[in-house]
Amino acid sequence: MPATFFVCRECFRAAELEFQISCEGAYISYARLPIRESLRLLRAFYQDRRRESPDDGRVTEALQEIERRLLIGPVERGSKLDS
Ligand SMILES: [Zn+2]
Repeated sequence: MPATFFVCRECFRAAELEFQISCEGAYISYARLPIRESLRLLRAFYQDRRRESPDDGRVTEALQEIERRLLIGPVERGSKLDS
């Protein structure tokens, strides 16, 4: 089971590039997860956060956004996260 890292949207591009460079240098294969698999991992991540702080509106909001995107059919084009 490969390690999973969560990175916020602002840091994502820079972090991914660093990961790719590091992996290449160490001959470790690097693969981006399919978007729906990422969303399911994110959902589990926020569900854990919700157990820790059930009254945090930001967590609830993030979970709703993830559920909404998981409901979108798998034919969704690209991943314009911020549109
Ligand atoms: Zn960040």
